[in-house]
Amino acid sequence: MATSRVLVTGGAGFLGSHLCDLLVKEGKYVICLDNFYTGTKSNIEHLVDLPNFEFLEHDIINSIDIEVNEIYNLACPASPVHYQKDAIYTWKTSVFGMYNMLELAKKNNARILQASTSEIYGDPEVHPQEESYWGNVNPIGIRSCYDEGKRAAETLCFDYARQHGTDIRVVRIFNTYGPRMMIDDGRVVSNFIKQALVNEDITLYGGGSQTRSFCYVSDLIQGFFSFMESENAGSGPYNLGNPNEMTVKELAHEVLNLIVNSKSKLVDLDLPMDDPKQRKPNISAIASALGWEPKVKLKDGLRLTIESIAERLHIKL
Ligand code: NAD
Ligand code: UDP
Repeated sequence: MATSRVLVTGGAGFLGSHLCDLLVKEGKYVICLDNFYTGTKSNIEHLVDLPNFEFLEHDIINSIDIEVNEIYNLACPASPVHYQKDAIYTWKTSVFGMYNMLELAKKNNARILQASTSEIYGDPEVHPQEESYWGNVNPIGIRSCYDEGKRAAETLCFDYARQHGTDIRVVRIFNTYGPRMMIDDGRVVSNFIKQALVNEDITLYGGGSQTRSFCYVSDLIQGFFSFMESENAGSGPYNLGNPNEMTVKELAHEVLNLIVNSKSKLVDLDLPMDDPKQRKPNISAIASALGWEPKVKLKDGLRLTIESIAERLHIKL
């Protein structure tokens, strides 16, 4: 059988670059597409000389015509700081980008996976969140460009499946962390680690009583791949994440316990508008469909993330 040609949009980003690593290792021919909006060349520099890897600089809000068998659509700024910087561009990336990738999938008869998000549940009133929950989303707030953009993208996927028989797969990703996270993109794990490493105040928004559930990147990427390769798991949507829920304050303490020499203190800042108060995935659907469940413990994942951030900041641990 010919080698499968796999397009990864957002392939130079945090999750995308880890996905490219796995696909290259699995013997796929990987076309990594990115416009470096938030991704970096350094995330993929170890791959560029491999015979089964190529890089394509492109913005998915514009259409593209290439030969592919599979598409993983990850292109979209993911941290609140970055997706709010140019909200209209974020929405265009989610919606026009999704449309362009679905058109490409239709033309090539390719399978397409959409990287959706737990944000489609908004500030959830159902806890833990299961896939049947329709969410509680503010359509006009500062997070809406991302939340509603991703909701519209899911709609487009299912409309293409119904109208054109497109082979779609949708995953809803819950907070994921690991090496190669951008140090300054404002997400909580990278913020706390950087702050602890350089002895700055640890910024707890709204006192840190809100909860999140943090998944290590290798677990998540394995879930993407298993779902994409499966023939019997349907289209989803499936939650992908680690149900190990904790408050943001507890996360701060976990980080400080691992960076023992840190002199950082916790400080309270305002909670941003529409910041979800609780979040935890119910993963029983994907567990029974694919036997997938996260394996990496928070302490182990945090250690590897701390090493990656310390190295980039030239700090000796
Ligand atoms: P990231 O910002 O590191 O990666 C996004 C990548 O997409 C970057 O390389 C960026 O340059 C690229 N990109 C953005 N707009 C583009 C455009 N218009 N055309 C081409 N490339 C573009 O973020 P990430 O954490 O790796 O997230 C990847 C995907 O997973 C995103 O779609 C995000 O919404 C989704 N997701 C991530 C998380 C998480 O916790 N990391 C949670 C939920 C959903
Ligand atoms: N957060 C925080 N301090 C920070 C960065 C984030 O307390 O320096 C909080 C943020 O308000 C949110 C949680 O941590 O409640 C997770 O934030 P992140 O931006 O990582 O992801 P998301 O809000 O998209 O889940």
